[in-house]
Amino acid sequence: MAVEEVQGADVLAPADPGEAAEAVKASRVVVPRGGGTKWGLVAARMASVAGTQGGVRIVDTTRLAGILQYDPAEYTVTVLAGTRLDDLGQVLRRAGQYLPFDPPLAGRGATAGGAVASGLSGPGRLLRGGVRDFVLGIRFVDGEGRLVRAGGKVVKNAAGFDLPKLFCGSLGELGVLVEVTFKVLPAPPSSGTARFGFDRLPDAAAALRRLLRTPLEPDAVDLVERRALQAASGPEVAGDDPWSLWVRVSGEEAHVAARLDRVEDVVGAPGARLHGPPEQALWDGLRDLDWASRAPAVLRLHTTPGRIERLDEALQRLGALRHYSVAGHVAWAAVESVPARSLVVSELAGLADAALALRGAQGSPHVLMPGEGFARRVKRALDPAGRFGGNG
Ligand SMILES: Cc1cc2nc3c(=O)[nH]c(=O)nc-3n(C[C@H](O)[C@H](O)[C@H](O)COP(=O)(O)OP(=O)(O)OC[C@H]3O[C@@H](n4cnc5c(N)ncnc54)[C@H](O)[C@@H]3O)c2cc1C
Repeated sequence: MAVEEVQGADVLAPADPGEAAEAVKASRVVVPRGGGTKWGLVAARMASVAGTQGGVRIVDTTRLAGILQYDPAEYTVTVLAGTRLDDLGQVLRRAGQYLPFDPPLAGRGATAGGAVASGLSGPGRLLRGGVRDFVLGIRFVDGEGRLVRAGGKVVKNAAGFDLPKLFCGSLGELGVLVEVTFKVLPAPPSSGTARFGFDRLPDAAAALRRLLRTPLEPDAVDLVERRALQAASGPEVAGDDPWSLWVRVSGEEAHVAARLDRVEDVVGAPGARLHGPPEQALWDGLRDLDWASRAPAVLRLHTTPGRIERLDEALQRLGALRHYSVAGHVAWAAVESVPARSLVVSELAGLADAALALRGAQGSPHVLMPGEGFARRVKRALDPAGRFGGNG
């Protein structure tokens, strides 16, 4: 097993699930790591377990890579947890399939296990669902160093919970994922996007809410501040308007234009249309948070479309660049300097249900976290000795 040292912690890089189990067994406290694309989540865990007697070990999963089983006719794929999502995406594309939850940072090296453990989904979540809707089964190393399968093919579900779903967003606190089985779907044959510019956020948010009340079912609806788009794609994509509403539809090529016409009717203005590679590049960039790639602090917030305006005022007070995704259910905020945690919580209370600091964490990646009681009980059942940290 490869071993190196980072920030005073040994990094173990197991080459197979058995080695991963050995690595956990041999360690007092374990912090799993995938592609390292959401480094705030790993750094926060490291900070929370620093100074643990017996030492902290990072278990790096990047050598646990490869597709174990893929049967396009069954619409399922099983991969080792360290498999890069862009590698997986290429294989799925060749069979005309895709992961509809659109995992963020896939183009920057995010892994299958990291996507599940961080519970993150991208703009495409709007139409088909989030990561937890596409995880059928997992295999993981538990707090006792045992390899356990749950969901999918074989169920060893001692606690009686739906373990694969519980691992979505577990942030490495329940175990080290070594294998994931995803449900996949046929990729849409064609897609197109309309961009609408707005001077004022309330007008853009009102158009977004009107779209949600129609039966149009767009693939993605994202609302992005000009400054954020400019940071990623330059003035020609960002345009002059302070806010851009991006609406993506898909289907048979002949139907896409007609669906965009209907989107324009609802928004009440003609949109600038994007097709082909530039359209795909735009959505890949939004999914991978290109606009926030240099920001020291990035927050993901769960909110509702009705709260966009009030949330935006609070995020503005924090000096954040803003991107409202999944039709206003998810907000991404990038901040130049990490604001005090207490300030973030007091500004955002009542405006977002949960907030996760992907970067710039201050002790814990959860900035707001309702429902903690249940999470704690699951944690105690699966990791009684606190080997994966987070028991404090
Ligand atoms: C398309 C869409 C529609 C929605 N509609 C509604 C709606 O009608 N009504 C409504 O109330 N909400 C709605 N929401 C909000 C959403 O249901 C909640 O924010 C939910 O709790 C978050 O689930 P998730 O799968 O997105 O979280 P994940 O992305 O899986 O969350 C990642 C991690 O963040 C932490 N976390 C996130 N949420 C919570 C939480 N609630 N408690 C504790 N920890 C948490 C956990 O560690 C979690 O595992 C909607 C969201 C979306 C994307």
